Amino acid sequence: MASLPTLEDLGDVAGKRVLVRTDFNVPMEGPDDARVIVDDFRIRAALPTIEWLTSRGAHVVCATHLGRPKGAVVDKYSVAPLRERLGSLAPGVELMENLRFHPGEEGNDPEFVAQIMQGIDMYVNDAFGAAHRAHASIVGPPQTVPSAAGRLLQREVEILSGLRDRPKRPFVAVLGGAKVSDKLGVIESLLNVVDSLVIGGGMCFTFLAAKGYPIGDSLCEKDQIDVCRGLLESGRTIHLPDDIVGLDASGNYATFGVRLPDGAKGLDIGPGSAAAFSDVIMDARTVFWNGPMGMFEDERFASGTRTVAEAMAATKAFTVVGGGDSAAALAQFKLDDDVDHVSTGGGASLELLELGDLPGLQALRGAPNAQ
Ligand code: ADP
Ligand code: MG
Repeated sequence: MASLPTLEDLGDVAGKRVLVRTDFNVPMEGPDDARVIVDDFRIRAALPTIEWLTSRGAHVVCATHLGRPKGAVVDKYSVAPLRERLGSLAPGVELMENLRFHPGEEGNDPEFVAQIMQGIDMYVNDAFGAAHRAHASIVGPPQTVPSAAGRLLQREVEILSGLRDRPKRPFVAVLGGAKVSDKLGVIESLLNVVDSLVIGGGMCFTFLAAKGYPIGDSLCEKDQIDVCRGLLESGRTIHLPDDIVGLDASGNYATFGVRLPDGAKGLDIGPGSAAAFSDVIMDARTVFWNGPMGMFEDERFASGTRTVAEAMAATKAFTVVGGGDSAAALAQFKLDDDVDHVSTGGGASLELLELGDLPGLQALRGAPNAQ
């Protein structure tokens, strides 16, 4: 199998027009016709790749998606504010209009690929967060021109593939978030590589239901109970919470054991579970964390997530966090600089861990310059 081509594999870039697929899907706020960027970290994150190219004489044209305009021109999702910011950070670098304004992007239409490739000599993918999608700008360009992974993409792949292929042990995965069904694939595949799995967040209730505990009105995916039971019976080590924090039937804050009364709703792991999960993280040598332990957006239910985030920051283990909400929680607690790697792609990081490859990476390995 060809290896992933990197910037060095592009050959001489001087005088070439290089299309760089970036992930500038930044948080924005304000009225639809005057949106402002809340945080430009995703633009700054692409600068090493952009500057590598421009300093060698390439002319860089960036292209990104922004929001979900679903194939139509939606003013709110115009990249104009991004273009202005990019222009101030990297003068002379162009930015195409939102790729998802055209239905050909998500539909992977060859005519749309031809349209964005007009006048382009080379292609670089630095959009890890989109590399799990077989969209036009991700899989189309490497079929025709010399192509490479940008620095961000390269680092994501090295770190996440390293977790999968050669983790230092014990390797622990901590999973939370709202839905089991979103993450079942990765849970099943992680069970084959991790030494133990820690499960909190909304998804833990489907597992607790599978063990026969009453879970009140907590989140539960009834059609996944059997699957969860199968995982629990697989003989692998799976840690579940044994105390829960939430709301009782009258809507008051309450702490429960592992059995929830009728009408109660579990919204965070309890302090005992948080301490136990934190011990597992402290004793590990590799930890991957995806998904908050509770509804952390509400301060009353943020403790479990905060305790896990603090353990991630404190442990000597190699720590990797994937997932938009998990990364947001970490940033909210100001601990994002204290973990080894925060992945820029939630879905992409899970899919790479699960399957070991992504459509965007396959496309790059098939490029004419790949070896
Ligand atoms: P990530 O973006 O990190 O992959 P998810 O999107 O899977 O995480 O899940 C995050 C969401 O899960 C958060 O909005 C959080 O409020 C919600 N959540 C976590 N635990 C619970 C719970 N017990 N009940 C309801 N929602 C929960
Ligand atoms: Mg999310």
